[in-house]
Amino acid sequence: MPDYVIAPPIQAAVPVAGGGHFPVRRIYCVGRNYAEHAREMGHDPDREPPFFFTKPADALVTGGADMPYPSMTADLHHEMELVVALGSGGVEIDEAEAMRHVWGYAAGLDMTRRDLQDTAKKARRPWDMSKGFDHSAPIGDMVRAEGVVPGRIELRVNGATRQSSDVGKLIWSIPETIAYLSRLVRLEAGDLIFTGTPEGVASVQRGDLLEGVVDGVGGVRVRVA
Ligand code: MN
Repeated sequence: MPDYVIAPPIQAAVPVAGGGHFPVRRIYCVGRNYAEHAREMGHDPDREPPFFFTKPADALVTGGADMPYPSMTADLHHEMELVVALGSGGVEIDEAEAMRHVWGYAAGLDMTRRDLQDTAKKARRPWDMSKGFDHSAPIGDMVRAEGVVPGRIELRVNGATRQSSDVGKLIWSIPETIAYLSRLVRLEAGDLIFTGTPEGVASVQRGDLLEGVVDGVGGVRVRVA
């Protein structure tokens, strides 16, 4: 080990169902990847190229831990998403080869300070503080990808269904997303991709219980504290 002058940061990781932990390098997120969500946000869901933003790896909330209500917002939104975990990477990955890099899947939440994001959009400023804040990425246990076809995606808040769709409705499929993203950056083992949220995003309050599920993958459960 190098002679670090302070203690090295803790490696972010996601528990794997059945045992072990998946170490996380980077978190990429796809914007507006379901047509009905693009429409509810006031956009035309034509097939414009996908766009991406990031969250820090240590924004993950795992193991069903509470998510503290973040500072500096009065409009915290849920975005229920399928998360893809890469076991290998590369640059300019062929779409036909892309699925070979997928190690696993998880259900995740791209929590968003919507008021700060709206301000940033209007001012043409970056989204980092609206998307990449502490505890902004609750995630459930990961499953191996082999044989899994993610299906229905759903989020309930305090037992009431808020989001309900199907991963089959992604505008940019998982292999298309990996291929496109790998033209922008070198993807590596340990990278996560939040693939986008379906329609039905809305505010949550302190005390709310969020329970998401992706059929074939599993769930995510988090309380806003
Ligand atoms: Mn999102």
